[in-house]
Amino acid sequence: MGIHETRLEAVAARIEGADDPARWRDWRWQLRNSLTTLDAVEEALGIEFDAAERVLLEETLQQFPLSVTPYYLSLIDTGDFRNDPVFRQALPSDEEIVVEEHDMVDPLAEDQDSPVPLITHRYPDRVLFRVSNTCSMYCRHCTRKRTVGDRDCVPTTEELADALDYIRATPGVRDVLLSGGDPLMLSDDRLDEILSALDAIEHVEVVRIGTRMPAVLPYRITDEFCEMLRRHRPVWLNTHFNHPKELTPDAEEALARLADAGVPLGNQTVLLAGVNDCSRIMLRLVQRLVANRVRPYYLYQCDLSEGLSHFRTPVGKGIEIVESLIGHTSGFAVPTYVVDAPHGGGKIPVMPNYIVSWASDRVVLRNYEGVICTYREPDRYKRAACNEECDDCERSVAAGCRGHESSGVAGLMRECDPVEALVPSTNERHQRREGVSADE
Ligand SMILES: *Cc1c(COP(=O)(O)O)cnc(C)c1O
Repeated sequence: MGIHETRLEAVAARIEGADDPARWRDWRWQLRNSLTTLDAVEEALGIEFDAAERVLLEETLQQFPLSVTPYYLSLIDTGDFRNDPVFRQALPSDEEIVVEEHDMVDPLAEDQDSPVPLITHRYPDRVLFRVSNTCSMYCRHCTRKRTVGDRDCVPTTEELADALDYIRATPGVRDVLLSGGDPLMLSDDRLDEILSALDAIEHVEVVRIGTRMPAVLPYRITDEFCEMLRRHRPVWLNTHFNHPKELTPDAEEALARLADAGVPLGNQTVLLAGVNDCSRIMLRLVQRLVANRVRPYYLYQCDLSEGLSHFRTPVGKGIEIVESLIGHTSGFAVPTYVVDAPHGGGKIPVMPNYIVSWASDRVVLRNYEGVICTYREPDRYKRAACNEECDDCERSVAAGCRGHESSGVAGLMRECDPVEALVPSTNERHQRREGVSADE
């Protein structure tokens, strides 16, 4: 019997009804028996918080509620629970009530990019669709922490219909990301309905589901659920493992079911101080993920949401981790490290530097080992033939330009564009110039 099974049994023995394996593996039983108070957690784990700590933790729970499934709780190492990565993700810390100067309620400005309730339309060809506002476990590092446990936020049938109408009426949307909360809190039937509605929209080519269930409640991934997914347009699924210890035999079984059902799997990890901010932990995590047919997709820098300051690492830590992975392990095991830009700028990839120097005829590069080499640029370069007849090109040509349209920094590279520089609206030098010309 592995350590995992021993702990499962220890916790199961202390929760009523949990010693019955059929119940334990029933996701609805797990939800009904989620632990939401410090007393229940103390009892189930056989631990005790000290009195002064208790007062602060209770205060924290007033602002940010607690909920954890018996399954996820059972992964905690009670011998050293304060340093346990599962404990730190599931149970409150008194540091959560510290609000720092830079913290924001909605750091990603998701509300401002929301044309209708439940939809965030930030990127040209894809939308985020929050189909559920609850989760099986309240992650202490949740970026939408402020709305957690807010019952009024459960999407209504009308809101769901309005969101679907928006997608139907917006032909540019080819990718719909079901998010939340956790979409898998909905029943299979409800999800089936939403997926069917999306199937019927011709311009929607891909649907993605973002869910933490494989990590925190793997029994949600039933055969029936996988069968249901098979009946729809390609559905990709991104899950959320943060630590190798979360890849238990039960979690691995859930991932295998999904992969066997033909669902391409990705993983999004949040870089968290005290949980996974270590190159070795991250190497083990990504290697275990790919061994389970899950492609590490993004590594997120922790957002500037209120109550998360104790989880934040310097960006340099993320770069250091990615640098320790690139070249050292399989390319497809390396996630893209991103900072989700405050104010809704979207995800910005951040990479270690590999270009040492660059001249017109050569570029000097260094590899993961520190070896420095020269790549000779081609003497002659002929680009892909283009008859400028595709839709995108025709639009550009009509606007007096050549080739594919681009704006922002990339737009500066277009020969036809009258814009040659992007200047912040508050630039003093430019304001002075405008002031002078107004006087004349
Ligand atoms: C992350 C995100 C997406 C998806 O972005 P990808 O880079 O395609 O994974 C879409 N919309 C919003 C608002 C997002 O935050």
